[in-house]
Amino acid sequence: MALLDGKAIAKKVRAEAAERAAAFLARHGRRPGLHVVLVGDDPASQVYVRNKERAAGKAGLEGKVHRLSADTPQGDVEALVGELNADPRIDGILVQLPLPAHLDAQAVIDRIDPAKDVDGLTPQSAGLLVDGRRGLRPCTPSGCMRLLHEAKVPLAGRRALVIGRSLLVGKPVALMLLAENATVTIAHSRTEDLAARVAESDVVVAAVGRPGLVRGAWIKPGAAVLDVGINRGADGRLRGDVEFEAARERAGWITPVPGGVGPMTIAMLLSNAVTAAEWRES
Ligand code: NAP
Repeated sequence: MALLDGKAIAKKVRAEAAERAAAFLARHGRRPGLHVVLVGDDPASQVYVRNKERAAGKAGLEGKVHRLSADTPQGDVEALVGELNADPRIDGILVQLPLPAHLDAQAVIDRIDPAKDVDGLTPQSAGLLVDGRRGLRPCTPSGCMRLLHEAKVPLAGRRALVIGRSLLVGKPVALMLLAENATVTIAHSRTEDLAARVAESDVVVAAVGRPGLVRGAWIKPGAAVLDVGINRGADGRLRGDVEFEAARERAGWITPVPGGVGPMTIAMLLSNAVTAAEWRES
């Protein structure tokens, strides 16, 4: 069994982004600009945004956070996105989710210029992914693919199971696996006999949010197991969706939680921001 070390690979991706950001600065006389919109004071979002800001700075990007109060009206949030769209020095715009309940998150995301959609969540980005055309891809699914590529996990012709069908993770990762010629199945809350679907799969991506949902005994010997789930237990510890200790006995490759898919997300965001900058200037 090989552990897919997200921390180490994320470090490599961040270093690549930093190198490309430096080359961009030398060529265009400015740093790639990544701006984050944070509405309200959700403690987890505050931490995520601070981490993104710090990582952007370290990689040589121009990172800025726009903090709006929790009661900001829909029109004001959309107007800010409009201003960021219009600013030529800004290459990437990320709206930190979840937004406060009174806001229509999809309407805010729909306002983002697809050329600056570093989270890959606009309908345009989703359409480009479906069509296999050049576009900005969602960060967590891109991180999953990078982990598989780094480990040289064979994908073409193999059976891949994605558990979860969110727009953020499940659907895009399924499309990315399909683009690599895997034979893809998507499981969800209505799927019958999940154990059998897992047992026949060479690649399993679990993106549900239920600790230990995927039993170790279900894993096909030698399979690659990517655990996207982040579940905080009563003891404060983070757990994934996969029963890790039992699964690692059977898997060929497996990501731990924490330290697997998690660190890849911010790294891929930096990479996307530099890509957006390069494409916008080209
Ligand atoms: P989500 O929008 O809540 O989607 C969860 C999916 O799981 C849904 O499609 C749901 O099916 C499915 N599901 C629920 N119960 C199931 C069951 N018993 N069997 C099979 N499928 C079931 O969540 P998400 O945003 O995709 O996130 C999933 C997990 O990944 C969460 O733990 C989240 O914290 C984590 N996450 C991690 C990162 C990272 O950076 N590592 C990034 C994003 C998310 P239905 O569609 O039928 O309801």
